[in-house]
Amino acid sequence: MELTSLSKRRLFTGVMVAGLATLIALVGFDARGDAQGPSNARSVVIISGDGMGIQQRTAIQYATYGLDERQPMDALPVTGFLDTVPARKGAVSDSAAGATAWSIGMKTENGFVGIGPNKEHPPTLFDIAQEQGKSTGLVNDHDITNATLAAFGAPILNRDRKRAIARRLLRREVDVMMGGGEGYWYPRGNPGKIPDKVPDEDASVGTENLVAKAQADGYQYAWDRETVSELTGPKALALVQDSGIQRWKELRGYKPKDDPYYVRAPDLLEKSLELLSQNPNGFILAAESDDMDSAAHEHDGVNVIRAGRTINAMVEVVQEFRETHPEVLLVVTADHETGGMTIENQVETNTNSDGDDPVPYYGDGSLNNAGPNGEVPPRSGPFPIKGTKNRSFKVDWTTPEHTGGMVPVTADGPLSELFMGVHHNTHVFDVAEQVLTD
Ligand SMILES: [Zn+2]
Repeated sequence: MELTSLSKRRLFTGVMVAGLATLIALVGFDARGDAQGPSNARSVVIISGDGMGIQQRTAIQYATYGLDERQPMDALPVTGFLDTVPARKGAVSDSAAGATAWSIGMKTENGFVGIGPNKEHPPTLFDIAQEQGKSTGLVNDHDITNATLAAFGAPILNRDRKRAIARRLLRREVDVMMGGGEGYWYPRGNPGKIPDKVPDEDASVGTENLVAKAQADGYQYAWDRETVSELTGPKALALVQDSGIQRWKELRGYKPKDDPYYVRAPDLLEKSLELLSQNPNGFILAAESDDMDSAAHEHDGVNVIRAGRTINAMVEVVQEFRETHPEVLLVVTADHETGGMTIENQVETNTNSDGDDPVPYYGDGSLNNAGPNGEVPPRSGPFPIKGTKNRSFKVDWTTPEHTGGMVPVTADGPLSELFMGVHHNTHVFDVAEQVLTD
């Protein structure tokens, strides 16, 4: 019989009590030794590269850092593996079930967001943090109402009900929310702050102005680089340009750096840490690069590697923050792999599994889909291996969907040692809960 989440937690607690004294001795003091942060309250940062399997991590390493210098997300001292299988059907997870395993410690059905397989509503890590007087935050390079982050801040049975998710994020008083998808917050007919340049973008369907509601509830509101930089908190809602590195696919000639409404996810993360760390009781922050998953669905290796830069930059922001706040557990992992991406030598042909959209969307697919004789499409390589003279690789794909392999998890900070080895993806919940409640 399946253990309930609670009894699993009790069992885990029992095991933990025995080993706790040793663990505190092992991890209580950071090697750098400068623990003079404003508070000793423990906090948690979870960074998800959506769809980031081991091949994605390796490709990002080779293309961006080369063969010697270890990329920031892999330079964390603890490494393990997590399975990604959902509760009952099949072997492959979606983002909703993957993130729910982290947020409530139960494997669930695909599509369920922060809700158990029998529609249970156990407390999420955000609820647990709030019970401890800690603050909560969400950061995404895509819309902040998407499934991964909603699993923490807005449990719901249907991941596509984005406006309902936005309302729930407010009702559950998530303190800091930064990312894209402003259209889900504004009422029909109100273009919001970001100029709508693509017809179906940010389709507003509701009548309620949730930005106005947030402001009435005490949230500061930001929409571009300048207003984000001015945020002082403690409660903040930043709705900026969605998926900046992906947007050129919709909009000819788009350059993220020339768009004042595009704010890099690492910058949003840095600002979020600044606001959340004002709480002396600590915080939990869940951050995601959803661009990683979109790029892999489209068989766009170039943008997988770009999204990897986002993840590494986010890790650098957190590691810099941890120099004065070593009581923060950092966990970097993925909800599942996407695309069956594989690193191959340039001489191999590509299989003919096409991406789920042409790249760009107004193109004919020749940039991301293999030619009739397996010719390598430009978005799959070649990618020079950084720091080498003539070495390069290309990537291949087995499916435009997710795959069911284990994903790496790397970690640093309190109790990070517990991530060593192979675990269920629910282990993220178990460890984070311990950090938040100790
Ligand atoms: Zn996906």
